[in-house]
Amino acid sequence: MTIYRATVLDTPENPFTGGVLRAEEDAGILVERGVIRDRGGFAELRAQHPDEDVIDVRGGVLLPGLVDTHVHYPQVRTIGALGMPLLDWLAHSALPEEARLADRTYAEELAKEFVGGLVAAGTTTALVFGAHFPAAVDALFTEATRVGLRITSGLVVSDRVLRPELLTTPARAYDEGRALADRWHGVGRTRYAVTPRFSLSSSDALLESCAALAKDVEGAWFTSHLNENLVEIAQVAAQFGASVDYLDTYDRHGLVGSRSVFAHNVHVTPRELALLAAQESGVAHCPTSNCALGSGLFALRGHVEHGVRVALGSDVGAGTGLSLLKEGLQAYFIQQLLGPAGWPLSSAHLLHLATRAGAEVLGMAGETGELSPGASFDAVWVRPAAGTTFDTVLRHADSPEDALAKVFALGTVSDTAGVWVSGTRILGGEGRRPATATTGRPSVPG
Ligand SMILES: [Zn+2]
Repeated sequence: MTIYRATVLDTPENPFTGGVLRAEEDAGILVERGVIRDRGGFAELRAQHPDEDVIDVRGGVLLPGLVDTHVHYPQVRTIGALGMPLLDWLAHSALPEEARLADRTYAEELAKEFVGGLVAAGTTTALVFGAHFPAAVDALFTEATRVGLRITSGLVVSDRVLRPELLTTPARAYDEGRALADRWHGVGRTRYAVTPRFSLSSSDALLESCAALAKDVEGAWFTSHLNENLVEIAQVAAQFGASVDYLDTYDRHGLVGSRSVFAHNVHVTPRELALLAAQESGVAHCPTSNCALGSGLFALRGHVEHGVRVALGSDVGAGTGLSLLKEGLQAYFIQQLLGPAGWPLSSAHLLHLATRAGAEVLGMAGETGELSPGASFDAVWVRPAAGTTFDTVLRHADSPEDALAKVFALGTVSDTAGVWVSGTRILGGEGRRPATATTGRPSVPG
C-alpha cells in the first residue's frame, strides 16, 4: 500500500444542495491496488501504517481527476478558430478536419495528441465525441487504453446536411457501431456511446438505428448535441416540424434516459428541463465554446431548479482548450454576467462541476470524481512553479475555498505536476517534475 501526503480538496457533498468543500491541509490517502482504502490526517494515518511507502505531493493542491463530459477528439488541431457562429464554424473549421480522419494514420496522430492533451490537463475521465470513421474511433480507444484513461466514446453518425464523406446510412451506422462496441464496450476502462452528431444531421431512420444499437449493447451510453444555437434550433424545427421541441427529436426514439448526456442546452424550454430531470439525463455545460461561438449564456439556474444533472465539458475544438479549470472559470463568468438570473458559483461549485458532477452524469459516482475510501485513486496534482504569480497568490490565500478560487482563476495545464488513474501515475515523475515535493511551507493554509 501507498500513502499519499498532500493538501486535498474535493466535493463529495453537492454544493448546489448544501454541501461544502472538503479540505485537509496535511492529509493522508491510503491506496491499495489503485483503490483508496482510508483517508485522514497524515500523522494519524502514518501512525496506523508505519511501514507503508509515502509519496509526498505537498505544495499546491491534490484534486480528484477531472471529468470532461463533452469533448471532440478529431478537433484537437482546430482549437482557436475564432469569429464564427456554430454552423459556419462547423462548415469551415471543424468538418473539413473531421473528414481527414478517414486516413487511419492521420487519426492515430490525432489520438496521441488528444489523449496526451487530456492527461496534461488533469482529465482522467471523459465522454468523447469520436470520429465519423470506425478505424479512427478504434485508434482513439487504442490510445486511451495504452495511456490508461477512462473513456466513453463511439462512432459519430449522420445521414444528411453534412459534407458527403461524413455521411452514412442507418444500417451501416448500426453495423459499424456494433462492431466497435463488441470490441471495446466494457473492456478495461472504455465504454461505448451511441453518438449521432445532432438531430439536424440525422433522419428519423438514423435515430431509430441509434436507438436499436443503444438497446442491443447492454449498458451503452448515448450522447449528442442539444439546443446550442438559435439558428440551429430553428433548422431542427424546420426539419422535424415546429410542433416538436429539440429534445423531442431524440425522445421520440427513446434516446432520453439516465445514460444520455446532451451537450450545451443553452436555449432550453421548461418542458425540456422537466423531461431531462424526470429521465435523469445529463447536460454537459461547455462555457468557453458557448462564448467563443456566441451561442448564448447557459441557464444554469433553470437546470438546478428543475433538478437536471449538469457537469462541465471543454467542447474542444469550439472550446478554447482542454483545461477544465478554464471551463470552471468561464462558467463562473457566465453566471456573473447573467446577474440575478444567474447562479452565483463558489469555488466549491466549480470543483464539483469539474469532478463529482461529471462522475454522476457518467454513472461513475463513488468510483471517481472524489478522493474518498472506496473510490479509485484518480487524482491531479496542481502545483504552480515557484516564483509565478499563481504561486504567490496561492501562498497568500486565506482559506481553502479562497485557495481553490485561485486555482480556477490562475491554474493552467502547465501547472499539472502529476496525474494518477487507479493509482498509476500517468503524468509527472521522471522526465517531468519531481515525484516528491520539497518540504517547507505548504502552499495552502488550512
Ligand atoms: Zn460538441
